[in-house]
Amino acid sequence: MRTSGPLLRTATLGHSSMEIRKGIPVTPGIALAEALVLDTEDFRIPTRYVEADQIKHELQLLPRAISASIDELKQQRENLERSYGRDLAAIFDFHAGVLQDAKLQREIEDMIGSKSCSAAYAVSRIFLTLQRRFSNLHDPVFAQRIKDIQDIERRLLRHLVGEEREDLEHLTKDIILVAHDLSPSMCAGLDKTRVVGVATDVGGLTSHTAIMLRSIGIPAVIGLGDFTGNVSGGEVVVIDGRRSLVIANPDLETFRRYESEIKRMQEFTHELDNLRDLPAETLDAETVSLLGNIEFPEEAEQCLRQGAEGIGLFRTEYLFIRAETEPNQEEQYQAYRQAIEAMGDRSVTIRTMDLGADKYTQTKAMEPERNPFLGLRSIRYCLRNLDFFKRQLRAILRASVHGNIRIMFPLIISLMEFRQAKMALHDAMEDLEELNIEFRRDVPIGIMIETPAAALMCQEFVREVDFVSIGTNDLIQYTLAVDRSNERVASLFTATHPAVLRLLRDVISTCNKASIDCSLCGEIAGEPLYTLLLLGLGLRQFSMASGDIPEIKRLVRSTKISHARKVAREALRFDTDRQVHNYLRDETRKLLPPENF
Ligand code: PEP
Ligand code: MG
Repeated sequence: MRTSGPLLRTATLGHSSMEIRKGIPVTPGIALAEALVLDTEDFRIPTRYVEADQIKHELQLLPRAISASIDELKQQRENLERSYGRDLAAIFDFHAGVLQDAKLQREIEDMIGSKSCSAAYAVSRIFLTLQRRFSNLHDPVFAQRIKDIQDIERRLLRHLVGEEREDLEHLTKDIILVAHDLSPSMCAGLDKTRVVGVATDVGGLTSHTAIMLRSIGIPAVIGLGDFTGNVSGGEVVVIDGRRSLVIANPDLETFRRYESEIKRMQEFTHELDNLRDLPAETLDAETVSLLGNIEFPEEAEQCLRQGAEGIGLFRTEYLFIRAETEPNQEEQYQAYRQAIEAMGDRSVTIRTMDLGADKYTQTKAMEPERNPFLGLRSIRYCLRNLDFFKRQLRAILRASVHGNIRIMFPLIISLMEFRQAKMALHDAMEDLEELNIEFRRDVPIGIMIETPAAALMCQEFVREVDFVSIGTNDLIQYTLAVDRSNERVASLFTATHPAVLRLLRDVISTCNKASIDCSLCGEIAGEPLYTLLLLGLGLRQFSMASGDIPEIKRLVRSTKISHARKVAREALRFDTDRQVHNYLRDETRKLLPPENF
């Protein structure tokens, strides 16, 4: 929720027409700043416009860059021919041919002249068109040529602007990051004080990238289609997470409106701050636990600042994603200890590594899996890599003496799997005993319910586990067969689907009947739309990104359980997700000021 003072003076307002896009909202904030645009391979897309007296200079740059590229190609061709023969070296003939194409050069020059843009920008746009032409031919031979086109473009740009991957850790001014996609590890490296907003072409609401962005608290809208192709570095961009909008080149009126909206939101956030020390208690005196989800130990402090009563989900795999090399047992122990000590005697639920799917293992694998979300991910990966798994379990157990922890296994689908994970934990305990290292033997052990199999087997699980936590991000994905990170099917990804509601109802009621602690740590725990429903289904522990806690607390404090039960009963009667959604939206609006929901 930031805008910087001098932005309006330096921005390119008015240079190009306003472009409004609707995407998938990740964080509800609003941000306003100049764009920094990355392409599919994380290179910066050059600034678009130049002043009129610069056009001649840009036109001169182009032939120089083309001839430098051709010289370089000749050199590489000769080297390749010497080592591997003529056939392989011929690959570069195509590259040289494209660079020597007079028609292509004229197209680039025309664009520089007619659109007043930089040579680099014109190259990136004309090559994008060329790539599209090739891919529209739907011919596998031409499809293979797309990589060559990208390669040629990259070479030419290197001679025009130099080759540097974007360094997002040392930014000198506030920016809105516009990218095709961001990996979870790129998100982990973002400088939150400088990157005030994010917009991406692809991605789904519960992709791990989205989760990271929400945790960091950066206003973000994702899944915008080809947005990177329509905005360039230095243009002003507005991120409006509440309305799922991204606006490039806002006109003056829009710009001013968003400036004042940012001010109003800052005041509202201030109001929510006052709730921090009040209990999450309904009007009929039912107490609810609001817990924080974290990826890194340093986030524990932020959870306390937002009024979290504990950590309901520590996604430990991010320690692996962030590090250059795999953290050893001691480093892991220190990370767990830091989070546990920050929380004092409040409970910290440490989830064992949930690597795989879109996290980590695919980029490291010799051969990526064909269907990684259904592949060797999460607990399956750990049980196949027992040394790796036990190293983590020993680190967690060692840290257990510093506070109040629980251990949770992810993506469990069967009792056998749970028992095997428990056996690994007992082995880790024996290892520590042999070494005379202290740990707590009575650590509660639980599972995540995030597959239909686990949800349907809840009766059996509650006999063996100490607690469960419902992971709706995956539960929705696997129940509805909708990839959580694919923007093309994002509209199908919803917890309001009656099948998901029924699973939630049954899991919560089974746990409550068996007096087994049940929390929910998927993203819907922090979405106001679901608060009444979940309270009404009997859920009393919600774990969410810490920034969502104040708003959920405000909702909890403004309703009665008796009313929430009525809402849940009614919601379960509908046949379609649309009806459920509209009904929950109307009920929630009655409790929240309209501008905030
Ligand atoms: C979930 O699946 O709901 C969950 C909390 O786990 P993650 O988002 O880390 O997969
Ligand atoms: Mg999950």
